[in-house]
Amino acid sequence: MPISFSTDEEFARKLDAEDSLRHFRERFHLPLGANGKPLIYLAGNSLGLMPKAARKIVEQELDDWAKLAVDAHLKAATPWYTYHETLREPVARLVGAKPNEVICMNSLTVNLHLMMATFYRPTKSRVKILMEEPAFPSDTYAIKTQIAHHRFDPKEALVLARPRMGEFTVRQDDIEAALEKHGDQIALVLIAGVNFFTGQLFDLERITAAAHKRGVTVGIDLAHAIGNVPLALHDWNVDFAVWCSYKYLNAGPGAVAGAYVHERHATNRELPRLAGWFGNDPATRFRLHLEPEFIPVPSADGWQVSNPPIFSMAPLRASLSIFDEAGGMETLRAKSIKLTGYLQFLLESARHSKLTVITPRETDARGCQLSISVHEHPKELFGKLEAAGVKCDFREPNVIRAAPTPLYNTFHEVWRVAGILAEHR
Ligand SMILES: *Cc1c(COP(=O)(O)O)cnc(C)c1O
Repeated sequence: MPISFSTDEEFARKLDAEDSLRHFRERFHLPLGANGKPLIYLAGNSLGLMPKAARKIVEQELDDWAKLAVDAHLKAATPWYTYHETLREPVARLVGAKPNEVICMNSLTVNLHLMMATFYRPTKSRVKILMEEPAFPSDTYAIKTQIAHHRFDPKEALVLARPRMGEFTVRQDDIEAALEKHGDQIALVLIAGVNFFTGQLFDLERITAAAHKRGVTVGIDLAHAIGNVPLALHDWNVDFAVWCSYKYLNAGPGAVAGAYVHERHATNRELPRLAGWFGNDPATRFRLHLEPEFIPVPSADGWQVSNPPIFSMAPLRASLSIFDEAGGMETLRAKSIKLTGYLQFLLESARHSKLTVITPRETDARGCQLSISVHEHPKELFGKLEAAGVKCDFREPNVIRAAPTPLYNTFHEVWRVAGILAEHR
């Protein structure tokens, strides 16, 4: 249903008054600007805000460490040995997976490598990896070095799906055309759920089906998708996925990341992998040196390498319970579509000739972020936003990314930001 907006300030206030999620803003620490007032924080796509409840959970772990030391592994309020279990179900809900298909571990790029160790096994005839451009550099480095690790040439083996000349985002049809053209030589499609630069949301179900038809494995980088858009990885039949938790999941700097492995792979103990003791069957894990043979847990846990990093997991518990309390991704997405749609509407109403939103206009082709290309004096505009207490980010050469999130941003904030952007002439 199309939503009809108005440019009046009163209208923004009315949207906030009607917003059933407005109270969740109080659950977060809002950073203050120079004037002592909260910043308009539109950088949750980079580092989400701190849930107030995080401090207590982290303090609990510090207390348990102080009081129990090694015994905290089994006797802490939340035992450390199985700490990752507390994250399993809420994370599975966010990505649309079965609980045995997800594991929180490591950091994003490390998980990308671990997943590729299993799912990128090039053969002479199938060497290539298809990814989108522009891609986040860490993903590009991971992919190129994986190709080189297998003694192939990244220049030949990396296939990029690019925006067409004069366009900003990759057409879904072009990804499918690339699969059509190179399909029998492609080993892996590794694509973002939501592109970090343009904010484009891909049709992951369609890409997965098209890839599988040609015998190609599909991995998804959900860095900008988890906690932003609803996902159904299991039903879409995606082979594997990875994500970080410090962006829309608000779990704090360097927080534990995650991985998803579809059940049909996760239960396959024969799959090669780079293993560690926490991926081993718990029944024999503590036989330690008496058990030199690795027996993987027949679930996504079979890829868990190390013992759970408690301090990078604790804040995620605080954040995940907010997602559940807010009613999950469907509820958040409904507000998000409205909030970002409102920003788009206000920018279009200003009939601006010097700004172009490069994020797709269709709501099902984007998450909450709008990427705004500024044709003249982009840094000056970015400086004006900063001076007015607006936290966005700037991506070279001239793109401002603004990500209003449904958990802690308001319609009135969006209205104010749009006013500053509209004045830039
Ligand atoms: C944020 C982000 C990363 C960051 O990787 P880390 O391993 O968490 O440092 C990687 N890839 C994408 C697409 C990202 O958006």
